[in-house]
Amino acid sequence: MKWETVIGLEVHAELSTKSKIFCACTSAYGGEPNTHVCPVCAGMPGVLPVLNRSVVEYALRLGIALDCAITQYCKFDRKNYFYPDLPKAYQVSQLYAPICRNGHLDIEVDGKKKTIRIREIHMEEDAGKLVHDAKGADTFMDFNRCGVPLLEIVSQPDFSGAEEVTTYLEKLRETLLYLDICDCKMQEGSIRADINLSVRLPGGELGVRTETKNMNSFKAIARAIEYETARQIEILEDGGQIVQETRRWDDEKLESYGMRSKENAQDYRYFPEPDLLPMQIDDSWLASVKANLPELAHQKRERYAVQFGIPEAEAAVLTVHKNICDLFETIARSSGQPVEAAHLLTGEIMRLMNNANILPEDLNLETNKFSALIKLVTDGKINRSAYKETVEAVFTNNVDPDTYIAEKGLMMINDDNAVIEAAKAVITENQDTAAEYRAGKEKVFGFLMGQVMKKLGGKGNPDMVKKTLTEMLKGSGV
Ligand code: ADP
Ligand code: MG
Ligand code: ZN
Repeated sequence: MKWETVIGLEVHAELSTKSKIFCACTSAYGGEPNTHVCPVCAGMPGVLPVLNRSVVEYALRLGIALDCAITQYCKFDRKNYFYPDLPKAYQVSQLYAPICRNGHLDIEVDGKKKTIRIREIHMEEDAGKLVHDAKGADTFMDFNRCGVPLLEIVSQPDFSGAEEVTTYLEKLRETLLYLDICDCKMQEGSIRADINLSVRLPGGELGVRTETKNMNSFKAIARAIEYETARQIEILEDGGQIVQETRRWDDEKLESYGMRSKENAQDYRYFPEPDLLPMQIDDSWLASVKANLPELAHQKRERYAVQFGIPEAEAAVLTVHKNICDLFETIARSSGQPVEAAHLLTGEIMRLMNNANILPEDLNLETNKFSALIKLVTDGKINRSAYKETVEAVFTNNVDPDTYIAEKGLMMINDDNAVIEAAKAVITENQDTAAEYRAGKEKVFGFLMGQVMKKLGGKGNPDMVKKTLTEMLKGSGV
């Protein structure tokens, strides 16, 4: 462990605004190739960009959430390079006056807290996609993604290993989701990270770094970091030198290869974007974004504890995804029973989701049916097992709970006489066990209780059964 790893991250997040950054085309993912394009995002000569105000608003949300200083007088710059997925041959980005600077995001790894400094966040446009023919003969251009808004979040070189990096990315992902500015679908490339990595001897100067580009899986990121660290150490220990370069990770071969030597800012011939005016973000806009900032996951966890008395561990399960929180809050409100609603989501619903391979972001529930079920079980109309069964039927087949309960005869037996009769019969049939109970062997109670429930077809009100049976055993007996 002689060497120390130093990592800085550049994360690109695709924003979920309806339209692109400089035109009215949809920014939705996918679509038939070249159907989400217009002369502006296809880079036709003579067209002019118009800035999408929501992009600025989203950037402000993130900047505020990450405690950044906001650059109120802020401008765009042109980054020039030629590549087939970039029809204008330049990308509109921000170099000189990025919208957010000097923020931080705090992480915890192995019980140790660490602050990761955010150097800047800037707004820019995404490029298109190259689709390589499977036979290898042709390459196709799909410009649908051209002009989709991006935020680039640049950290300081503050990470010392893969676990810190993935923890940070998870927290950043959570923040983006709760701020409602990015859908964070890794598989669709909504967040992608470039890993800048160097190694050094402890306390020494920063080493020469490489940049592994466009990683969009947390597991692959961790593997790429391990690989690159080992590669650099081996070169240095053999007396070699690290070349500053851009590398691409191959997650099948589990190795990376150099793509090109690293360009510097001057290679891009940056200059102020002449087609867009600098903008002045006024105080009142900033204040209103601040005041309306959506609630973040950790704030929700705290509120769930204070307002509803939900334990930390359960609140943490609910906040795995904002969609789960939204469903929970709706069911909690309409049933008036937040604790039950939390148990329902973290218990049965998550079990069913796992079985059906449904991701938290894709979960869709008819919340009114579930609140009705919560009311039925807490009012003692159905018992816990009938509740579970009906929850599953609603979840899988979207049945109507009332009809289902009626058809299956799941209404609970709340009839005193029926319960008394069943308890009497059980005690008569199990004289010896009843005597053992009376002699102080309390653990046989469960057996007797089970027998009464069985007689009632599993539909007895457990509280009532328990009470009646106890009274009968403790009382005169049968
Ligand atoms: P570029 O202009 O190539 O994007 P930057 O100076 O903007 O380079 O840095 C990009 C990222 O690389 C930042 O996240 C920064 O923290 C990180 N970084 C810079 N130098 C090093 C280094 N020697 N080792 C590891 N990461 C570094
Ligand atoms: Mg960079
Ligand atoms: Zn367009």
